[in-house]
Amino acid sequence: MASSWGSFLQDEQQLEELARQAVDRALAEGVLLRTTQEPSSSDVVSYAPFTLFPSLVPSALLEQAYAVQMDFNLLVDAVSQNAAFLEQTLSSTIKRDTFTARLFDIYKQVLKEGIAQTVFLGLNRSDYMFQRNADGSPALKQIEINTVSASFGGLASRTPAVHRALVLLIAQEKERNVFDQRAIENELLARNIRVIRRRFEDVSEKGSLDQDRKLFLDGQEIAVVYFRDGYMPSQYNQQNWEARLLLERSCSVKCPDIATQLAGTKKVQQELSRVGVLEVLLPDQPEAVARLRATFAGLYSLDLGEEGDQAIAEALAAPNRFVLKPQREGGGNNLYGEEMVQTLERLKDSEERASYILMEKIEPEPFGNCLLRPGCPVRVVQCISELGIFGVYVRQGKTLVMNKHVGHLLRTKATEHADGGVVAGVAVLDNPYPV
Ligand code: ADP
Ligand code: MG
Repeated sequence: MASSWGSFLQDEQQLEELARQAVDRALAEGVLLRTTQEPSSSDVVSYAPFTLFPSLVPSALLEQAYAVQMDFNLLVDAVSQNAAFLEQTLSSTIKRDTFTARLFDIYKQVLKEGIAQTVFLGLNRSDYMFQRNADGSPALKQIEINTVSASFGGLASRTPAVHRALVLLIAQEKERNVFDQRAIENELLARNIRVIRRRFEDVSEKGSLDQDRKLFLDGQEIAVVYFRDGYMPSQYNQQNWEARLLLERSCSVKCPDIATQLAGTKKVQQELSRVGVLEVLLPDQPEAVARLRATFAGLYSLDLGEEGDQAIAEALAAPNRFVLKPQREGGGNNLYGEEMVQTLERLKDSEERASYILMEKIEPEPFGNCLLRPGCPVRVVQCISELGIFGVYVRQGKTLVMNKHVGHLLRTKATEHADGGVVAGVAVLDNPYPV
């Protein structure tokens, strides 16, 4: 077992005692989730699942992940400002993927009308796993970048531009991960920034724009809209799409604006890995380009044509080396192994395959840890981790006025799971123990 906690991991009685103490501590510290049974009740909670021990993370890779975060912020921001690139990259995807197409429609509509706000607020989280190289050494490889509703930060964006702003947090009524969002609300309140929490439905019923496209809700002007909803199709009905368009058309600062959400699609991630694309998007920044590229795993377009045909043939020949991804967020959407093979066989000759991308499967070195979950026995299982680095930036017109990394998230899961997600019940919260 590759872990410095080896002596603990062998003593079952000691593990249970440690787990009891750790769970009490988590409850006392407010590491909480609403339960699945009662997601909207305010008085039934349990602890958010977490590891008993912090997992070992090579400090060089932790530093590399931090060092490249500002480059990723720059890159996402460059993509969001490059209409030709977004249009070209997503053109095949939006033909087949109605969700991305809907987002894209809003994008086109606000572009056409002229964007009302010159300030752009990005809050991204770039996720990585530690690929085991042939010589056994680990390499930092990006899983994806989250540009909308990047969760578990519990961190406020500390931008001078939004001080004394009224922030509108768009959230669902039934939200198990509400304590993660409350941490942000509390942090804003502590800085004397008022926050109101509303659903898309509230915006469509009570929101309006004045002639300068200022957004008003319940008689108050909204300076910043922060989305913790609206990143998957099930979160939209016709009314919610209209509310999203209204928010996007307004001159409130959006976190994220629609272009930045589109910049976080898996299709864009795949195109960015193509030779020469980073160089076009970030001209005159060869060092940033090199740092970014070093974290990219193999990514393959499935657009109709020879390149896509070849990617599919390779995936069918060695299914365990690849992951098939649709344009979705929130966990549980990717296809692996036999399911991937069946889907590829079905889509092979259809244009629909362009709504997916193919990715090299990252294979980290497993290690032993205990994943603590309400109601589950304490036992040591083989695990792998995923490191997330939060990045935040503010752009005013063409000028980047702030670009920072603002903390990390380590999530750990048992090796038997292909997909991830804490709220999805697969991964648990962890802390890196730099080695
Ligand atoms: P989502 O937007 O649903 O979070 P991700 O691309 O992050 O989609 O994939 C979900 C999970 O699937 C990740 O947290 C990770 O556990 C696993 N995963 C995704 N891509 C890979 C990959 N290339 N190699 C290994 N595991 C992967
Ligand atoms: Mg993810």
